[in-house]
Amino acid sequence: MFNRRKFLGSSFLASTAWFLRTPDAVITGDDQQPTASGQRNSPLVISTWDFGKAANAGAWEVLSKQGRALDAVEAGVRIPEADPTIHSIGYGGLPDRDGFVTLDACIMDEKSNCGSVMCLEHIVHPISVARLVMEKTPHIVLAGNGALEFALANGFKKENLLTPESEKIWKEWLQSSKYEPVINIENKKYSPGGPLNHDTIGMLALDSAGNLSGACTTSGMAFKMHGRVGDSPIIGAGLFVDNEIGSATSTGVGEEVIRVVGSHLVVEYMRQGLPPGDACRKAVERIVLRDPAKAKGLQVGFLAMRKDGVYGAFCIQKGFTYAVHSATEEKIYESESWFS
Ligand code: ASP
Repeated sequence: MFNRRKFLGSSFLASTAWFLRTPDAVITGDDQQPTASGQRNSPLVISTWDFGKAANAGAWEVLSKQGRALDAVEAGVRIPEADPTIHSIGYGGLPDRDGFVTLDACIMDEKSNCGSVMCLEHIVHPISVARLVMEKTPHIVLAGNGALEFALANGFKKENLLTPESEKIWKEWLQSSKYEPVINIENKKYSPGGPLNHDTIGMLALDSAGNLSGACTTSGMAFKMHGRVGDSPIIGAGLFVDNEIGSATSTGVGEEVIRVVGSHLVVEYMRQGLPPGDACRKAVERIVLRDPAKAKGLQVGFLAMRKDGVYGAFCIQKGFTYAVHSATEEKIYESESWFS
C-alpha cells in the first residue's frame, strides 16, 4: 500500500521524478484519482465554477479527437466568453465603474510558451488574442489600446461588449456606487440590489499525448476602477503550467492571488510532492494566515491538475465549484474550503 507520508518524504529527495512512480493509494483531501493505479488519467479537462461544464464540453471536442491541450483550452473558454448571460466573462461581462467592459486573459502551453492580454476592450474572445500574442509576437503581455490595435490588425472584429442587460445592471449599481466584491456569485442571475458579479473561468487540460495547457479569461471584478487588472491574465498568479509537474488556476479576489503568486505557488507545492488538493490548500493557507480577519470576507479558489491527471481544489469559503470532463466522468464537484 502506498503511503502518502512516505510519498512526500521520498518526493522531496527525488524532486521531479515523483510522477514516474506508480501511486496506488487513494489520495485524501479533495484530490480525485478516478483511474486505476499507475495510469495517466488522460485526456482530461477541468475548469472553475458550474459554467465550466459547458466550456469543458467544448474542450472535450478537441481532446477526444487526440487534439492538443492548447487547442482544447482555447476552444473551451471561448464558450463562456461568447455567452451574454455570464456576466463575469467576455461578451456581456459587467463593466468597470465608468461603464467600460475591460477583459483580462492568458494562455500557457506545455513548453512554457505563454501569452496574455490585459484591460482589453471590444473583443469577444480575449483568449484568442492572448494566444496570438504568444505565437506572433516576441512579447508575453499586451495591454489596453496596444492589445486592441494588435487584435484589430489580426482580423478580430471591434464589438460593443456592453449588452443591454449589463448596462442596466451597471446603471442600477451607479445609484449606490458601492464597490464590494461578494463571495460565490458565479453565473447567478442578477437581481436589483443583489450582489455584484465576478468569477473567472480557469481551465486546465491534459491531452492524450500527456501534455498540459491552461487558459484563464474574465471581465474581472465588476465596477472595478478603470484600468484595474486582476490575477487572471498574470502568468503565475491566475494560471501556471509546468509540463513536468502540473498546472493550476485561480478564481476570486485577484489582489489576494497576485500577492502570493498563487497558481505558481500551487505548482511549486506539487513539485515538492503535495497532491493537487493539498497544494491548493497550502496556497489558500498562505492567503488566510496573512490576514485571518480579512480572509473571513473573501473568496479565493485554486484548482490544480497533476501531470498524471490527478486533480484537486481548495478555497477559502464554501461554495467554490469546478467541472471535470474525462472519458469516464462529467461532473461538477464542490471544493473543500478553509471556513465551513
Ligand atoms: N480573479 C478575478 C479578478 O480578480 C475575479 C474572479 O475570479 O472572481 O479579476
